[in-house]
Amino acid sequence: MDLNDKEIIDDEITQEDIDLMMQVLVENEEDLFAEFFRDNMEELERRIEVAYNSASEVYAGDTEFEDYYSLTDTLELVYEFLDSLNPKYRKEFDRLFISGEMDILSEHDIDDEPYVDMETFKEKNLLNIHIPLDHNLYDVYSFVHEFFHTTNCYEDENTDKQFLSEMVPIFYEFLLFDFLRTKEVNQLENNRCIDERIGVFLDTAFDLNEMIFTMKEALKGMNLDYEERSSEDTERLRFLMEDDIKYFLAITTAIYEYYEYKNGGISLKNIDEFNRKLNKLDDFDSLNYILHKDDIEDEDIVKSIEYLGEQLKNNMSMKR
Ligand SMILES: [Zn+2]
Repeated sequence: MDLNDKEIIDDEITQEDIDLMMQVLVENEEDLFAEFFRDNMEELERRIEVAYNSASEVYAGDTEFEDYYSLTDTLELVYEFLDSLNPKYRKEFDRLFISGEMDILSEHDIDDEPYVDMETFKEKNLLNIHIPLDHNLYDVYSFVHEFFHTTNCYEDENTDKQFLSEMVPIFYEFLLFDFLRTKEVNQLENNRCIDERIGVFLDTAFDLNEMIFTMKEALKGMNLDYEERSSEDTERLRFLMEDDIKYFLAITTAIYEYYEYKNGGISLKNIDEFNRKLNKLDDFDSLNYILHKDDIEDEDIVKSIEYLGEQLKNNMSMKR
């Protein structure tokens, strides 16, 4: 499977979207994002191709969730998992519940996603974590993912780390995956939760690849012919692109760190340090740091994605 094979992607960006992004990049000489993007276009392009091709091999597609999880079932697993990592996490998780900062939505729209509200955090220094309950295994992942976003916030409360903080929560999702294997939960469903991540990874890689290709062509020719567009549209697209880069780099790095961790190369303390380091850097410095960290080679990316694929396969062959 290669990047031109679009069967995995259902939500494609349009040529019009790409034209708009070009306009943003070309017209914003002083723009940090444009600068980051232009400086790293080649590196990103190479990495996207390598990661996309390996991840396509691992991706299995959606499985339906069947097992029912009450809030109590879910919390029991979350508590046990956090305890197994460090009792301080369990304590902090409790605190969020008691203070009301953890907001559980029992009734919600079908496509509501869990998130941490960074605006409330910046304004009132209160975390506002929204967890829409689906009453399946994915709820456990939602709590763990959002909780590990909050471990990013306290170091520097004035910095909006939403942009970069995805790597740490996703890394802990992989550890949760391992933990749930030892608990012998439904393997198909446990795999599905990780598969969902890989699906997002492939989507973002595909979108970015399209954008980079078209932008390179356009930059070469520089004969840009755009109609007037509202700055609102431009902002929206810029956000989409930042979002794709953020997720793409976060997931690649999280898979790599998981591989390193499982093979004894790094410890959870190193992950903590990494987290702290990201918190202290400005957004674009952090993106640069994450992109060039340890100068991860192409083979390392391939190896780590293959390793994750093996874990998913092993899980399926285990007896229930
Ligand atoms: Zn997140």
